[in-house]
Amino acid sequence: MPTETFEFQVEARQLLQLMIHSVYSNKDVFLRELVSNASDALDKLRLASLRDDAPDADVTDLHIEIDIDSNARTLTVRDNGIGMSYDEVTQLIGTIANSGTAKFLKELREAQDAAGADGLIGQFGVGFYSSFMVADEVTLVTRRAGETQGTRWTSRGEGTYTLETVDEAPQGTSVTLRLKPADSENQLHDYTSTWKIKEIVKRYSDFITWPIRLVPEAKDGEDEAREPETLNSMKALWARPRDEVSDDEYHELYKHISHDWRDPLETIRLQAEGTFEYQALLFVPSHAPHDLFTQGYQRGVQLYVKRVFIMDDCEELLPPYLRFVKGVVDAQDLSLNVSREILQQDRHIRMMQRRLTKKVLATVKDLRTQDPDRYATFWREFGAVLKEGLVIDSDNRDVILAAASFASTHDAQEPTTLQQYVERMKDGQDDIYFMTGESRQAIENSPHMEAFAAKGIEVLLLTDPVDEVWVDAVGEFEGKKLRSVAKGEIDLGADEDGKADAEKEKQGEEYAGLLGWMTEHLGEDVKEVRLSSRLTVSPACVVSDAGDLTPALENMYRAMGQEVPKAKRILELNPEHQLVKALNQAYTERDDRTELTETAELLHTLAVLAEGGQPKEPARFVKLVADRLERTL
Ligand code: ADP
Repeated sequence: MPTETFEFQVEARQLLQLMIHSVYSNKDVFLRELVSNASDALDKLRLASLRDDAPDADVTDLHIEIDIDSNARTLTVRDNGIGMSYDEVTQLIGTIANSGTAKFLKELREAQDAAGADGLIGQFGVGFYSSFMVADEVTLVTRRAGETQGTRWTSRGEGTYTLETVDEAPQGTSVTLRLKPADSENQLHDYTSTWKIKEIVKRYSDFITWPIRLVPEAKDGEDEAREPETLNSMKALWARPRDEVSDDEYHELYKHISHDWRDPLETIRLQAEGTFEYQALLFVPSHAPHDLFTQGYQRGVQLYVKRVFIMDDCEELLPPYLRFVKGVVDAQDLSLNVSREILQQDRHIRMMQRRLTKKVLATVKDLRTQDPDRYATFWREFGAVLKEGLVIDSDNRDVILAAASFASTHDAQEPTTLQQYVERMKDGQDDIYFMTGESRQAIENSPHMEAFAAKGIEVLLLTDPVDEVWVDAVGEFEGKKLRSVAKGEIDLGADEDGKADAEKEKQGEEYAGLLGWMTEHLGEDVKEVRLSSRLTVSPACVVSDAGDLTPALENMYRAMGQEVPKAKRILELNPEHQLVKALNQAYTERDDRTELTETAELLHTLAVLAEGGQPKEPARFVKLVADRLERTL
């Protein structure tokens, strides 16, 4: 087949441009990325052979090899792993499947300065393409294990690449970089230096479980090829004594398995002895991935059996609400042939999941008390996911609640725990109050909060979609009910000025006629009109009935495709407000109801608007208000 030239997909082209002109300060990581890919390819081949999926593959002496040619200024990273077919090369190397890339590129274009761009590249990680930070031409030759023909891919990173089929290609993949000139200004090191390569491999890839060999360059006058030198210790980090492994080493393993270029927030080690022995090395990332809440998010840790890689994204080892956790679990007593189906039924796997879950939750809980700053980062990034556990994992509910924190009216910056809330509760306050909404500001400005603000009663401000759900699932904390300030009847006890129940009753009688008439008149939209004890400033607000879904929850169910009836809400009036007083007076004194009917309607719409809702008929609302305004001039 002749050499054919192809164009990169748009995103790939943009990404390559960025790599070529990269300002990323740590260019050494290109080698880590190539070694990481090579190691994955070896893992995949061994796994295929364990499963008898690769009958014609050669699995003796699986390794990675690095070759330097200083005269030609080339560096080659070679593996004899699974390799790629012609089609796989086009799919995997010519295009970028990662859905986050488009977002990444947009942010990168918007990043004004080099430091911003640097941070963004580190945030997304770019794998194979990072070669173009240090090379002006890259050639990849690969042959899929078991196939006869290979494929050569080559590119200068500028818009196009070429592909050709080759007859003579060793099994696996070799990537050859034609290096840019070394240059101190761009922090470009001399990657033809043996010393430099050894240092980089030691620093970033020591734990790789395959030998990484450096083939020495033949010196002038030497005919004999010299013995390759193995650069890495190959020891699985989770099998080494804890105090022998440095944080940096853990962090590099994290980067290898997560494809994140940043350090993790927390490293968790667990060693289980006994009848079912396993080691786990788990990581909490320092940033939530952009697709954490999308449907296809690949969750799970890597599963090893006796040091042999078995699968990526093993979902069975952690519950969905810990889907941000990365890491490795190495089990001694599973079969190398273990499949997803077996894992789903295995009793030991369920026990592992329970144990790992408890360990992660305990770590978060400790972080909260021992390192508030890092805890704050954790909660900002993953709090919304962890709270899903309150709904689906009732066994661990208490520890999740203890690890959780919430924004509150008590402090504009510092979140609070439920425990702290309870300790601050006022005498006579029986419930824990919260309000859900779009944002802190929207909630704070909502009329429902008025009486709470006036009385200095603390309210939790919940703004994550999951908040609508867990509060119902949890119900109470230490015997105190969790109550929405926008739901049901609220009785905050006697007012500041000591208004007694008797007086309230009198007020009720005074308004009974108006309330009954309005309930009937607005009956299409509201369940009931009643007097409010939540309001101090606004004339009216709408609240949900105690047992009903809130509008946000209704929307959530609809978004998930479920049909839910629209629950009618309750309109509450503030009997101390001049408008409401005047309305009542007009109701008792006048027989003509036309004006009143409009006012009642307006009052209802104002209440809807005040909580951030939409008028049912915006045009009609505008007309009514405009008419009224006109009459005031
Ligand atoms: P990532 O490693 O983050 O998936 P890369 O751009 O580095 O992204 O690689 C894309 C894909 O190309 C890999 O997922 C893998 O399937 C394939 N690939 C890369 N290098 C190799 C290799 N040495 N051997 C086999 N496949 C490889």
